[in-house]
Amino acid sequence: MLKQVEQWHNKWCDWLDDFIINAHDATLEFKKPTLEFSSRGGNVAGKYFPTRNVCRYYLPYPLMLGDRYEETVMHEVCHSAAHQIFPAAQWHGDFFHYLTRVVCGYPNHKTCHNHNVRIVKQYIKQAKLLLLQHQLLLLQGET
Ligand SMILES: [Zn+2]
Repeated sequence: MLKQVEQWHNKWCDWLDDFIINAHDATLEFKKPTLEFSSRGGNVAGKYFPTRNVCRYYLPYPLMLGDRYEETVMHEVCHSAAHQIFPAAQWHGDFFHYLTRVVCGYPNHKTCHNHNVRIVKQYIKQAKLLLLQHQLLLLQGET
């Protein structure tokens, strides 16, 4: 499941990298955001940190949403691209919507979702276990 999130992350990074090279500005180099996982199950499914260029994914959400979580990954990677292209643009402004809806092809993408946090919390234990397994594999140098 973490691998799946990572694949989506890489896919949308490549997609936006192509967009920046071909359509926007060939001189701007898209710095690929690093990804981070958390087992927290609060009211956000993902978060982008502009100062570190990091996308953080909250694992109870992909466990709950399955393939629908790809849209969240796309959303966070778009924050990275928007921030690098127009650092002064509004967080969820017109340019951000252009990236999510037009460039990435989610015409109905909305920036706010009302997830049922009570249901999300049911996935926290499983998320913690996945995260521990992931960290163990990293320690063993297998990923
Ligand atoms: Zn956002």
